[in-house]
Amino acid sequence: MCKVVMLAYTQFNPDAQLPPELFGAHSTEQEALIEYAARVCYRSLGKMGSNPTFILQRMKEGHEDIIEHVSATFLFDGCSRACTHQLVRHRLASYSQESQRYVDLDKGGDLSDDPSPKELYDFFVIPPALRPFDPDNEVLMAFLENLKRAVLGYRAARAAGLRKEDARFLLPNGTPTRIVVSMNLRSWRHFVALRAHPAAQWEIREIAKEVLKQLYRLAPSVFQDQMEAFGLA
Ligand SMILES: Cc1cc2nc3c(=O)[nH]c(=O)nc-3n(C[C@H](O)[C@H](O)[C@H](O)COP(=O)(O)OP(=O)(O)OC[C@H]3O[C@@H](n4cnc5c(N)ncnc54)[C@H](O)[C@@H]3O)c2cc1C
Repeated sequence: MCKVVMLAYTQFNPDAQLPPELFGAHSTEQEALIEYAARVCYRSLGKMGSNPTFILQRMKEGHEDIIEHVSATFLFDGCSRACTHQLVRHRLASYSQESQRYVDLDKGGDLSDDPSPKELYDFFVIPPALRPFDPDNEVLMAFLENLKRAVLGYRAARAAGLRKEDARFLLPNGTPTRIVVSMNLRSWRHFVALRAHPAAQWEIREIAKEVLKQLYRLAPSVFQDQMEAFGLA
């Protein structure tokens, strides 16, 4: 399973010297910032914290710019290239992904010279349809044999002098990767709406649901409806 880690998120600048009572009524500092941005629009900062459904009401009206002021950065570690290919289609985001031009498949030293089926199973991202590891599962064993061919082919190409950027053409979609992704909360909501949905592919759906759970802790008012919609609340 891909590791999903929230690395960073927006916080108030202490140098702004805002009065602490502005934040007292909020479950999180991030929600206080969202409400603050909305209150600037209406010149109603004096009412900060007076209405627990204030953010929800603004969202229902479509006043969604206010949630763009909070951003969150995630690390996805160990998801497949097939998954990140879908992820990076989301354009309102920033990405930094491990490079197959600069990082050799064997850099982590996770695979031995003659990798066993179990080693390959643990290294590559394996679809749920082929889990758990079972040496009697002929489809799985054939799948792993093909992954082994890809690994040995990659190594042979490298040993023959091919550059990583060219040898990588032999690597399968299930090759694990790492990527850092930043989006504001409006973009994350859009990502979750599309990718936590049952129509989405299983791997990105698992990631989207984990992202949603972590974002909910950051800004409950912003993600409550999606937590309910996807059966997580
Ligand atoms: C179930 C599912 C199946 C899919 N199948 C395929 C497939 O078979 N083939 C395929 O190629 N893709 C497929 N996709 C990807 C999909 O078409 C989108 O590229 C992807 O989900 C990113 O969504 P987005 O463009 O809304 O997001 P973002 O890029 O984050 O954009 C957010 C929003 O900004 C606006 N926006 C951004 N850029 C533009 C623009 N240039 N013009 C107008 N509005 C813009 C739109 O309102 C958009 O919804 C699939 C997605 C899902 C969820």
